[in-house]
Amino acid sequence: MSSKLLPGAVIDKPGSSVDYLTGGWRHLRPIYENRTPPCNVGCPVGNDVQRILYLVKDGKFREAWEVLKETNPLPSVCGRICYHPCERVCNRRKFDEPLAIHEIERFLGDLGLREGWIKKSSSPPTGKKVAVVGSGPAGIACAYHLTLLGHRVTIFEALEVTGGMMAVGIAEERLPREILRRELSSILNLGMEIRTGHRIENLDELREYDAVFLAPGRMFGLPQLPQGVAVEHGRVKIDRWGRTGRKELFVGGDAAVGARRGVAWAIGSGRKAAIAIDKYLRDESLPQVLEPQPVKFEEINLDYFTFSPRVSIPEGSISEAVGRMVEIEAERCFSCGVCNGCNNCWFYCPDASIVKLGEIEYEVNYDYCKGCGICANECPRGVIRMVEEG
Ligand SMILES: Cc1cc2nc3c(=O)[nH]c(=O)nc-3n(C[C@H](O)[C@H](O)[C@H](O)COP(=O)(O)OP(=O)(O)OC[C@H]3O[C@@H](n4cnc5c(N)ncnc54)[C@H](O)[C@@H]3O)c2cc1C
Ligand code: SF4
Ligand code: SF4
Ligand code: SF4
Repeated sequence: MSSKLLPGAVIDKPGSSVDYLTGGWRHLRPIYENRTPPCNVGCPVGNDVQRILYLVKDGKFREAWEVLKETNPLPSVCGRICYHPCERVCNRRKFDEPLAIHEIERFLGDLGLREGWIKKSSSPPTGKKVAVVGSGPAGIACAYHLTLLGHRVTIFEALEVTGGMMAVGIAEERLPREILRRELSSILNLGMEIRTGHRIENLDELREYDAVFLAPGRMFGLPQLPQGVAVEHGRVKIDRWGRTGRKELFVGGDAAVGARRGVAWAIGSGRKAAIAIDKYLRDESLPQVLEPQPVKFEEINLDYFTFSPRVSIPEGSISEAVGRMVEIEAERCFSCGVCNGCNNCWFYCPDASIVKLGEIEYEVNYDYCKGCGICANECPRGVIRMVEEG
């Protein structure tokens, strides 16, 4: 018997309930299970919004930028002109106001440009060559991810300018061209080649490449396609990974059937295609995709939150004061479905059966847990689930 307490004594700290073994009568047991925040599902790029806000609230801007750039090569662009569907599904919307996700994204993107941060590739060169047709958001995103994955990319662009509709369609008041230019340079400088003023008329011209990503948008129509590629109303039929009837040809952005117009959707389609192209070139299988089950507003324990108005982040200056505003805004995040180390479960467990392993890591000591469910009730964000014993 290791307890220093007498039987019946007050349990005064975690781990001190060692006299009260549960035995075999518990019916339910709590399990920790991080789930999917709705904002992450709502972002067509695939940004891990919750994780970014978690880092930003503590002023960890560089770490947050790294996480953001894992998925999005163009945060300064998206932070300005994305229609921000992430905010439409933000659970905080039903409480007071949604998080200012796109403004925080813009802040991080602009900070990265000012500081000259560079996303480093961790993949060795593969020696594989990929052609990307079109330098709009879909083509740029695909080229970025493929380059980071170690492939040699050449972009072919019909116009003399880079950026597709971002450069020639979207109004300059909404997307300053200087921001676009700097963000595009930071991507092109990663080591890809770009040939502007070079329109591809027939994909046969690209036979020397191991794979092709086609993202020509809707400006000029499709180039001549190889046999076996299905087209519907001038758009190419693809699966969720951008795959077509030809194993070496992938398509994304506005030129694909089912495209949901918008820069973020185009970036997301380029990213998915890059994953698929990488797997194809390495002869590996694609990851399994499970249908996400985003955490519902009703699963948030509102007792732990107070109303606080959204803090709007001003554009243009990146001062310490603005950085503080960004932190305060990120602090409003419920962190839906993802443990943020608030310690409620650890603190409220009447049997002191929760063991804290790290900053955001906990474990239940089932020898002493009675299955009362208080931890699950008091978790503000729906991370703990009670499951039947058995
Ligand atoms: C006026 C306007 C305003 C918009 N405003 C917004 C907005 O505020 N927010 C938002 O999210 N979305 C907006 N959109 C939509 C958004 O711009 C598009 O959905 C997005 O740019 C599509 O990306 P993409 O990469 O598929 O194609 P594009 O951006 O169209 O780029 C395709 C590129 O491929 C090149 N190309 C075409 N054919 C060839 C070829 N054969 N060989 C070589 N290169 C070729 C083209 O020159 C072009 O540069 C707007 C669109 C327009 C037209
Ligand atoms: S890209 Fe758009 S949807 Fe995604 S996080 Fe940014 S603003 Fe939200
Ligand atoms: S509250 Fe935070 S985690 Fe929840 S949906 Fe909004 S941004 Fe995402
Ligand atoms: S109560 Fe807090 S510490 Fe415990 S699982 Fe939920 S978020 Fe994490």
